Formats: sequence, structure tokens, C-alpha cells
Amino acid sequence: MGRVIIAGAGIVGLSTALSARRAGFEVAVRERAPRIRETGAVLGVWPHTIRELERLGLGPRLAEIKAERSFVRYRDFSGTEFATTGMPPARTVHRARLSALLASAVGEDDLRTGKELVDYVEDRDGVTVHYADGDHERADLLVGADGLNSRVRAILNPGSGSRHQGGHHVWRAVLPFDGELGEGCPVLGRDRTRGTLTRLADGSCCWVIAQFGTSTSATMNSKEEALARVPNLHDGTWPFALREAVLATPEDSVLHSRVAVVPAISRWASGRVVLAGDAAHAMSPHIGSGASLGIEDARVLGDCLGGAGIAPALAAYQDDRLDRYRQVRRHANTMAAAPTPLSYVERFAAYLNWLHNSRTRPATCLPHPVRA
Ligand SMILES: Cc1cc2nc3c(=O)[nH]c(=O)nc-3n(C[C@H](O)[C@H](O)[C@H](O)COP(=O)(O)OP(=O)(O)OC[C@H]3O[C@@H](n4cnc5c(N)ncnc54)[C@H](O)[C@@H]3O)c2cc1C
Repeated sequence: MGRVIIAGAGIVGLSTALSARRAGFEVAVRERAPRIRETGAVLGVWPHTIRELERLGLGPRLAEIKAERSFVRYRDFSGTEFATTGMPPARTVHRARLSALLASAVGEDDLRTGKELVDYVEDRDGVTVHYADGDHERADLLVGADGLNSRVRAILNPGSGSRHQGGHHVWRAVLPFDGELGEGCPVLGRDRTRGTLTRLADGSCCWVIAQFGTSTSATMNSKEEALARVPNLHDGTWPFALREAVLATPEDSVLHSRVAVVPAISRWASGRVVLAGDAAHAMSPHIGSGASLGIEDARVLGDCLGGAGIAPALAAYQDDRLDRYRQVRRHANTMAAAPTPLSYVERFAAYLNWLHNSRTRPATCLPHPVRA
């Protein structure tokens, strides 16, 4: 079928390699970083995510992920459960473990690190990709899975740079922690805070504290910023060891992100180049499904490539994704505008169920035969 270069070995780039390979392509994943790295701490994995990973052929390798404890309950800062129904079960998975699982499925031979795409030149017959080390190579197709600040998107869609989302910050860490965690469930706290404390399958502990609509203090470090928000998530009257877990975290293990998003773009593809994952649609983590959607991009792109020539496949993929993300953004706006934590949980549940149950493959694309 041809050769595809995938820029970026994040969760979406690696998923795209599996999907393109199943469609019959020779794949070459090129990652800027010196090694496949862990970005962030954990991911919420939904039934939708599991299904998309299974569609990539990862079924037997997912046992470890499926073994993670799942939860459906949400609480407020006083420990009171929100009475919601219909929330699909979530599993919390260490990002590094999911990346490692995908990378081992792709295999070392098709993956090179330390290769930063700086430019590409597209012509009628293919695309030439240029790297920061002066090297270049040729392929029939280039997939930009190079994340939030995608170089491929910048060339395909000049002026589409990512933007910070006003006052939205996230602090998080994974650490060894033997203490009792108490109720391991997400908390929708006061003053637009959200938090999670959970035990992972390998016995480590993960905490996440998110805050919308705030500024950070120039005088506080990341750990102090996180600790300052604990009272909004836990009033101390119920078992929830968030403060203890944050206190036990070395300062340099606390990851802090100022959340940024990609503005909606209408061009995901040209004749030989296409975007997938955060490169095309990084959104606020309040939708809790950016990776899940990116894995879906990878799978849909593979379905399209398996059923048509490259140009019609990319056109069909773009049509499908533009429609899908118009609806995702509508859900995301509805969630962001939720007047109360309870209505947020209800809208989040409705979104996740929609994500899982709605159409995810363009009618013009034929599914390629499943290979063992
Ligand atoms: C705080 C937070 C919490 C989140 N929680 C969830 C969650 O619970 N569930 C969920 O589904 N999603 C979640 N998301 C979203 C999710 O993390 C992203 O949508 C997903 O990781 C995007 O994957 P990606 O592969 O597209 O991009 P990335 O993970 O950013 O990967 C891009 C890769 O490309 C490489 N790269 C960059 N530039 C170049 C270049 N020029 N050449 C070659 N390589 C390059 C990078 O080094 C990187 O490895 C969260 C996001 C945040 C910020």
C-alpha cells in the first residue's frame, strides 16, 4: 500500500502506527525526544478507550489495563456522593505503561527517537520529511501526531498555534505511598477545583489536582500550589488521604501544566499529509478523553486508508473528524457551562455515553480485514 511516516510517538502516534500497519502500510514512527517518554501522570480510560484499543488489535495485551480498579462514583469536598446514574466505569492507567504497551506492539525496528521533524515538502507522488539533524526521508504519507504544538499543523494550517486556557492549571504526581488512601474517587470541590487520589495496579499512588479560573502565585512552588487547594477538595471529615499523598511527594516529582488548547481548525489533511490526536484537536482536560479521541482518530484513519487510495482516504477521514469534533466541542462547551458540580457529572456521563455509542466511521470507508 505504501510507506507512512508518523511524526510523534505519543499515544496517538503509536496507535496510528498500529492502525496504518493493519491497513497494509509500512510504518516509520519518528519521535523528537531521545526516548519514548512519560508525559503527565495518569489517564482516565473509559469503555470507549478500551474498545478503540481492541480495534487496533491490542486485545490480549490489554489485560493489565483491564485489571485496574474501576470507579463510577464522584463526591463533593464533604465526601457526599453525587447521585448520578449512567456514568461509565473509569480506570486510571499510568501513561508510561500505556505508552510502553503501544511501543512494544509497534516494535523497535519501526520506531526512531531523537528525530525532530522541522519541515516537509509535499508533491504529487509523496512527501519528503526533513529533520533537525539534517537528515531527510521520503514516504507516501505523513501523519502529524506531534501533539499540542505540532510542527505539522503549523505548516498545514499557519496561524493555528495553541492557546493557554485562561486560569486552568493541573498539578499531579505518581509516587510510592503505603498509607491508606481512603475513598479513591474523583472529587468535584469548591472554588472550581477537581481532584483524584487513586491506587494503581503496580501499588503506586497517583494524585491529580485541577483548578479552573485561577492565577498561580509567583512565590509558591508547584507542591505548595497543590497543597493550598486541598481544603477545597477535602474538609477533613471523611477518609481521603489527599493531603498526606501531596505532602509525601518530593517537590521535583510534582508535574504542573498550564492547560493549553488548539483552536478548531477546518483543515486536517492535504493530499499527502494528515493530522491526528492533540496535533489536530487538543482540548481542555475537563472532557477527560483527549487520548481516547486520539486513539479513535488513529483507528478511523486506518479504516479509511484500508479502503481507498491515499487522497480519497484523507478526504473521508477529514470529513468524519470535522463532524465528530463539532459534536465533541458542543458537549465540551455544555460541560464547561455546567452551573453545579452535579450537572457537570450528569453532562460528563451523557458525553461519555455518546462518545461510546455514536457513529465513528465514515460511510465512505470500508473496514480493512482484521489481521491476526
Ligand atoms: C492534565 C491532563 C489530563 C488529561 N487527562 C486525560 C484523561 O484522563 N483521559 C484522556 O483520554 N485524555 C486526557 N488528557 C488528554 C491527553 O493527555 C492527550 O489528548 C493525549 O495524550 C494526546 O496524545 P498525542 O499522542 O496526540 O500527543 P502527545 O502525547 O503530546 O505526543 C506527541 C509526541 O510528539 C512528539 N513531537 C512533538 N513535536 C515533534 C516533532 N516536531 N517531531 C517529532 N516528534 C515530535 C512529542 O515529543 C510527543 O512524544 C489529559 C491532558 C492533560 C493535559
